[in-house]
Amino acid sequence: MNVHARTLAAALIASGCGDGEQNSVIETEYLSISVDPDTPLCRGSLLDYDQDFERISTLTGLPPNGRLEVAYGQPFVDAMCPDGSGGCVSNFGAETWVAADDTESLVHELVHASRRQHFLLGPRSIEEGLANVLRAREGLPSRFTFQSTLYGGPAQLWPLQPDAFYAVDSSYVSSGSIIRWMVQAYGQETVMDFVNDDALLRDAEFDEVLSALDRHLGVSLEALDTRWTDEVDLVYNLGDPCTAATTFDLDEVMAFSDRHDCDNAEDTIDARDIGDGWQSQSRVRCIRVTEPRVLRMSLDALGGTAIMAPASHDCEPPTWHKEVAAPGEPVEFEAAPCTWRLWFAAPVETVTDWQVELIAL
Ligand SMILES: [Zn+2]
Repeated sequence: MNVHARTLAAALIASGCGDGEQNSVIETEYLSISVDPDTPLCRGSLLDYDQDFERISTLTGLPPNGRLEVAYGQPFVDAMCPDGSGGCVSNFGAETWVAADDTESLVHELVHASRRQHFLLGPRSIEEGLANVLRAREGLPSRFTFQSTLYGGPAQLWPLQPDAFYAVDSSYVSSGSIIRWMVQAYGQETVMDFVNDDALLRDAEFDEVLSALDRHLGVSLEALDTRWTDEVDLVYNLGDPCTAATTFDLDEVMAFSDRHDCDNAEDTIDARDIGDGWQSQSRVRCIRVTEPRVLRMSLDALGGTAIMAPASHDCEPPTWHKEVAAPGEPVEFEAAPCTWRLWFAAPVETVTDWQVELIAL
C-alpha cells in the first residue's frame, strides 16, 4: 500500500465513521462511485458520468479496463490529491482511482483515468491538453481565452517536467489549444495513434516522444510549433453547451417546462454548492437571438430560479451578464444577438414542476 492508498483509506474510514453517516457506493456500468455523505449527487449526474466514460473511451480508443473507482466529494480530494487541485488520478496496485470535487473536475480526470487504466501517460502538457479537450460535452461550462493569453506552443510546453508545467500560468489552456488544433489539422485518429504510442509511457525519454511524433504525424516538434503558431484560432472554445437538439430560435412567446427532482435521472444533472447551499440544475436550453431584443423572463415554480446567460462562444462583443427570475418576479433585460443559455436551478431538496416563459417585447 503506498502513501496515497493509506490516505485514501484514512479518508474513507474518517468520513464513514465520524458522525455515523456512511459513504454510499453507487455502481454504474463503468464506474463505482463512492459519494461523501455531505456531497449531494443527483441521479442524472451519475448517468452522465457513465456516458462520459464511455464517450471518452471511444475518443481515446482505449476500452474501459474493469470498473473505474471514483471518489466524489471534497474530503476525498483533500485526502488523495495535491493541495489546491479539484481532482486527481492514482493507481493503487492494479486499480485506478479518481477523486474529484465537482463535475468539471471529474470529467477531466476521467480522461486521465481512461489512459491510466492502460498505463499510458505521456508528457504532462499532452495529458492535460487531452483531458481539457476530450472532457468537453454538452452542458459543461464553456470557457474561452484569447491567443495573446496563451503561453506558447508545443516546443515550449511539451518538454516541461511536471513541476515546471504546473508553474506556468495558462498551461492547461495552452495545452488544450494545441491538442484541439492538432485534431483539426491532422484528424482525431492520427492524433490518438500518436498519444497512444508506447513511446508516450510515463518517464519515456523525450526523444522517444519526438520519434513518435515523426512516425504518426510526419513532423518535427519545431515544424509542429511553427504551424500551430500560424494557424491557432484566436478563441479557444471548450464544452459547447448548445447542440442542434437543445437550441431554439427566439420566437415572440416561448415556454420551457420540466420537473426538478434530484432523484430523477431524466430531469436534473449536476448538484453544486453555490455558496448558499447545494443546488441542482436542469439541462440547458439554448436560444438563438438574431437581433438585439428586450426579453421578459418569468418563472412558475414552487421555488428556485430561472437563469439566462450568454453562451459566451458566439456573442460579439462577448458579454457575460446573467439574468435571474424567481417565481412571480419576472425580469426584463436587453439580449444581445447571440446564443443564450437558459436553465432552472433549485436547492437539491426542492421537488417542483417548473415553467419558464420568455416574451420578446
Ligand atoms: Zn488533469
